[in-house]
Formats: sequence, structure tokens, C-alpha cells
Amino acid sequence: MKKLFLIVVMLCVGISEGSAQQSELKQHQVVFGRNRFVEYQPGDLPIVISVPHDGHMRPEIIPDRTFGVTMRDNGTQDIARDIIIEFKRRTGNSPHVIFSHLRRKKLDVNREEFEAAQDNETAGIAWNEYHGFIDSACIRSLQTYGICLLIDLHGQNHPEKRIEIGYCLENEDLTLSDEALNDPLLVEKSSLRSLLRRSTMTHAELVRGSKSIGALFGEHGVRSTPSPSIPAPGSYKFFSGGYTIYRHSVEDTSGVTGMQFELNPELRESGNASATAAMLTDVIIEYMKIHFGRNNTQYIQ
Ligand SMILES: [Zn+2]
Repeated sequence: MKKLFLIVVMLCVGISEGSAQQSELKQHQVVFGRNRFVEYQPGDLPIVISVPHDGHMRPEIIPDRTFGVTMRDNGTQDIARDIIIEFKRRTGNSPHVIFSHLRRKKLDVNREEFEAAQDNETAGIAWNEYHGFIDSACIRSLQTYGICLLIDLHGQNHPEKRIEIGYCLENEDLTLSDEALNDPLLVEKSSLRSLLRRSTMTHAELVRGSKSIGALFGEHGVRSTPSPSIPAPGSYKFFSGGYTIYRHSVEDTSGVTGMQFELNPELRESGNASATAAMLTDVIIEYMKIHFGRNNTQYIQ
């Protein structure tokens, strides 16, 4: 299936050229989809970051969507670009990063195609390119390193100041005991299912234990759920993980570990982008070393 999407992307991409960012990335060729609606910054680490909801383009050739959510995740694109710079500075290497530049009113790449593009052919092409680029990045990571961490980067405006971590586990799943969380039926729907296969930890430990990504956020003074201190979202609204994480790390069983980060507004304020990117880079590097093994993470030492 992934090879098919790779071929589709290669056929669809009309432009492949450098940009201002290329001077930062040097050896990497930035790739744009048709009309520059989608951008792929190839990296060389087994880390893929997708940024679906901070696009600014409102082309007339795509009519406004008539149903679905249209809220923009302000600040997430700047944070992702700062993450690339942070990784490059600390490790000499970069994650793969994929952006949608279309306003969510025109295309929502974090939905299945019918709701995302609403029967518009141009929007449908951009949707396919976006997910094709993610497929390409994941395939490259798996082929080179045998591992891949996919992070879908979002922003939320819920009253609680915390990062919501989506593993495709609903609020009611997370209210269960650790024992229940380890049930194979819940593991099957979790975006950590591939990581669990290579881990000595249980599913519940990966979701909210002392080495979970929520725990690492806590060590940086950032509240998040699920985590050891907030194991379940409780009665507050919570985004559990959307189409992108489901498609690439649950439905696709080739080995991608996925998680959706929903950043609270304070982390996304324009003056905080660099600090947030530095914190996220710290946490991701630490997570890779803990969960993907020293032999597999020498590239980020
Ligand atoms: Zn979003």
C-alpha cells in the first residue's frame, strides 16, 4: 500500500525545487506538491513530523468546505520549523517534516478524504500528496533504521493548560486500570502497537508510566495527559488522535509508532515558539534513546 502512495506522489508532484529554508538544511531538497499546497522537508532521522492545520492559502479554485471543523492551529508551523533547526544544531541531522499550506476551510488533511476534500479534485490531489509524503518519509525511516516515530502536531484551546497526547485511545479507554489497558483489544487500536512489539514495557507503562512521553514532558515542567500525574483526561475535553495517526500507525502495521501532540495556546504564542521547539526536541531525543535503543539511536548522540 505504501509503495502505491509513493508512486502516486511521484506522479503528482509538479514542482521540486529549493526554498529559503534549504540554505538551513543544506543537503536536503525541499519538495512541494502541486500549486505548493503541500511542502515536504526531507530529513535523515527516523522521525516524521506532520503539521496539518496551520496553512494560510485560500485559493479560489477550491471552494470552502461546507461541513467539519475549520479552526486553525496557530503557531504550529513556526514551532515545527524551529524543531528542524534545533535538531540540526544538536545532532547535525533533521527530522522529516510535512506541511499543509491550505487553510483548513479548504482542506483538512487530518480527516478521511471525503470529509477532508469534500469532492473537490484539486483538494483531493493535495490530500493524497500530503499523506504520500508522510508515507515516503516513514518508508525511508523504516528502510534506513528499522524504526519510525511519527508526530502529528496540533494546537488546542481547551481550558486546561496541558499537552494532550493522542494514541488513538479515547478518554474512556484511559480511565481504565493499567491491567485493562494492557488488553490485546486495546493494544490493537493504539498507535503505540508497533513500539510495544519491541519494548520490554507494558502498554500501560508506554502510555502513562515513568518513561512515557507524558512523564518526559513533566520532567521539563510541562503538564500533559496521559502521564504519570494525569493518567486520564477526566471530565475535560480531550483530542485522542485523528486520521493521520490512525492511518499511518494503527491501520498501517509496517512499524510506525505514532502520537498526536495537541499543544495548549501558551506554548504556541509567537514569543514562545523557539522555547517550545527546544523543549519538544529535548523530549523527542530523550524518548528515542529510551524506547528505540542505544544501538538504534547513535545518530542522535
Ligand atoms: Zn489540529
